[in-house]
Amino acid sequence: MNLDLSPSEIAFREKFRAWLRENLTDDLKWERVADLSHSGAWEARRGFERRMGADGWLGVAWPREYGGQGATLLEQVIYQEELVRSGAPALTSSVGLELVGPILMEVGSEEQRHRFLTPILLGEEVWYQGFSEPNAGSDLAGLQTRAVLDGDEWVIHGQKVWGGFAEHADWGAVLARTDPDAPKHRGISFMIVPMKAPGITVSYIKEMTGGEHLNEVFFDGVRIPRENVLGPLNQGWRVANRLLGYERGVMTLPFATRYERFWEKLRDFASSNRRRGERLSERPHIRAALARSYVDVQMMRLANLRWLTHYLRGTPPAEETSYMKVYWAQAHQGLGDLALELGGGAALGLPGELETLAAGAFSNEWAFSRSTTILGGTQDIQRNIIAERILGLPRA
Ligand SMILES: Cc1cc2nc3c(=O)[nH]c(=O)nc-3n(C[C@H](O)[C@H](O)[C@H](O)COP(=O)(O)OP(=O)(O)OC[C@H]3O[C@@H](n4cnc5c(N)ncnc54)[C@H](O)[C@@H]3O)c2cc1C
Repeated sequence: MNLDLSPSEIAFREKFRAWLRENLTDDLKWERVADLSHSGAWEARRGFERRMGADGWLGVAWPREYGGQGATLLEQVIYQEELVRSGAPALTSSVGLELVGPILMEVGSEEQRHRFLTPILLGEEVWYQGFSEPNAGSDLAGLQTRAVLDGDEWVIHGQKVWGGFAEHADWGAVLARTDPDAPKHRGISFMIVPMKAPGITVSYIKEMTGGEHLNEVFFDGVRIPRENVLGPLNQGWRVANRLLGYERGVMTLPFATRYERFWEKLRDFASSNRRRGERLSERPHIRAALARSYVDVQMMRLANLRWLTHYLRGTPPAEETSYMKVYWAQAHQGLGDLALELGGGAALGLPGELETLAAGAFSNEWAFSRSTTILGGTQDIQRNIIAERILGLPRA
């Protein structure tokens, strides 16, 4: 494992750092704009991303022929890490940039690529991922949303759940059943749906963090043009799996960086706050918990670097992404538990001695960490993949 950056990689990092220094003002940082229910937060994030797009800082990994920088894998990691370090908010364009864009390049028609790729790259259009349904999450192929051809239009009926930014999105990447008589994996198509079309109703899901990023989406006779199918008709399952491969394959190194930053906050908090007269960092069980969390985050970083080395040598990402997903979800929840322990009553918003606690940030992280064992495929599903595909155990 060689951790030294080449001169061109250092130059790439410095260029992006300089851009962030100039453009990412304090009012645009994560803490200020994470909560979309605050007025102006959405517009602020969108404005920042449009600036990134205009200056060529979105889709750096996209090939040059589609307007990207054709960044190497290591440059992509540097880019992600710098974004996290800078305190930038998570990109609202990420479904378009990281999932839909690459799939459009792979299987989209010439017209679809022409219509959709540039607005994604410029940060002008937001995409929503409409896959999961109330009875189709882990068993995604059991989805019930259906699309029926009527003349030159598909008519869509059904319900999706857990998608992000649906109300704001311009376009939806929606899986629908187009052949109800085929075996369940073979009758699904990948639809491109204009999210402002008549018949679409979006409602928010109130999250335990207090936020409202996720939605339920109802399709009631939504009409879309016949040509809005991405990839071959009834082969949406294969297209979706390519897309999910991109989703799981996204390197988790930036998460390690994010968790390191959060761990440092916990350490500083423990060193500078007392409970019942005793400094938190002097309590043995807190020292032990801090040490354990530190080891977890460093193990995650090193495991990621080890896999990164393999990828740089040309091995494509495979099932080990499941093992990393299990690990980072556990590390995140460990940090969340520690944050709650350190914050005590104040982390729960109760009156107490630790009034200095920054606006519930610790309890927020704890609550958010609960979702990491579910999103992108649950721990059980990842463990099934590890058992069957890595360890070669018989199917459950
Ligand atoms: C924060 C967040 C963001 C999300 N974003 C999106 C998004 O943008 N778009 C989208 O389409 N979806 C999104 N999802 C949905 C997510 O993909 C699903 O929640 C997830 O796949 C689990 O599906 P489910 O909730 O239906 O649970 P279920 O599949 O019903 O699982 C329930 C329980 O049963 C277990 N289980 C199920 N099957 C098996 C099995 N074969 N073996 C062992 N155990 C099993 C699971 O591990 C789980 O514990 C998001 C979810 C979250 C929490």
